[in-house]
Amino acid sequence: MGRFDEERRDMVGILKEKGITDEKVLLAMTNVERHLFVNEPFVNRSYEDTALPIEKSQTISQPYTVAFMTQELNPKPGAKILEIGTGSGYQAAILAEMGCRVFTIERHLELLLEARKLFERLGYRIATRGGDGTVGWSEFAPYDGIIVTAAAPDVPDALIRQLAEGGRLVIPVGDLDSQSLLVVTNQDGRLETKEVRGFKFVPLIGKQGWNGK
Ligand code: SAH
Repeated sequence: MGRFDEERRDMVGILKEKGITDEKVLLAMTNVERHLFVNEPFVNRSYEDTALPIEKSQTISQPYTVAFMTQELNPKPGAKILEIGTGSGYQAAILAEMGCRVFTIERHLELLLEARKLFERLGYRIATRGGDGTVGWSEFAPYDGIIVTAAAPDVPDALIRQLAEGGRLVIPVGDLDSQSLLVVTNQDGRLETKEVRGFKFVPLIGKQGWNGK
């Protein structure tokens, strides 16, 4: 029994109560130890359903947000997934735990290096890259799914271009205070966009993102 096993089970119970139904998502969130992705002094709060601060004024997303976005992404095992905004690495680990081939980009090198160390320690084979993810990662495109974990002013075209036939892009779009979560699907060469709900994310900064340092 690990130190936080009971807390983690309770967190998954809360996710179910809040409407997460995908068993694969719930199982991954039961298996991945979120407290390993959180730093002091917040480790004791790892299983509260809330975003928590990480280095570089960023956050590890709220568990419900991770669960909801992953459920909307609906990746098949073995799916090739691109994540923009590695942050703590928690979302990437959830996808890897579900059997996805994960590619993740982070603009803060310090965060990327920490996440990379953690992936190695936990045995996840996740491809990582430092830089501006608004231009995607063309070398390994197309992707079955793309998940953006920071708030964008618009849907970056590069990400649309790197989406496979039948693929899904999950991205929060809006202003800096509040965003709608969009799910864009590429079906028979036609793009379909649905708005699923409101969320609050840290900004996506880059060429096709917000200005910032
Ligand atoms: N998925 C993360 C959430 C981190 S918050 C987790 O599970 O912890 C979003 C992250 O997106 C931040 O770390 C921020 O630095 C990063 N980010 C913002 N704009 C970016 C861009 N254009 N390219 C790559 N990463 C970006």
